[in-house]
Amino acid sequence: MKTRTHRLRRFAKWAGVVLCVLVLVAWPVSLKRRTLICVYRTQVSLKAGVVAVVRWKKDFSDREPWFRYIVMPKRTSSPRWRPRFWTSMGNANVEIPLYIFLIVVAVPTIVLWRRDRRHPPGHCQRCGYDLTLNESGVCPECGMRIVIDT
Ligand SMILES: [Zn+2]
Repeated sequence: MKTRTHRLRRFAKWAGVVLCVLVLVAWPVSLKRRTLICVYRTQVSLKAGVVAVVRWKKDFSDREPWFRYIVMPKRTSSPRWRPRFWTSMGNANVEIPLYIFLIVVAVPTIVLWRRDRRHPPGHCQRCGYDLTLNESGVCPECGMRIVIDT
């Protein structure tokens, strides 16, 4: 069970790094062109530093393919910084700036990486307290039972 959680955490750590890189790459791309994916009535586009989702009220599936992928070259647009939610003519719109995705992914990733950082031998492996000359067998800083690690 322990190795499984360990493997899962390692996967989460690297998945977090990959996602952060993807968001960082998506940012300049979104300023230069509009990438659009449409699945049935839901349209997701990457543009102007945001991920925009539109839920169309009207169903176009009778004359449009159910899946569409479109890239529109566009003159450089200035990034938008505020998340927005609105409806117009029955269509639901959501715009979420990419930096929000970056924060949501980066914070837990950094926490995971920091938590797995090993402390040097002779120090408490949980909190890093120097255990030289410790005789109690318990870390005085965090109370962890000491594992012999030399
Ligand atoms: Zn400790």
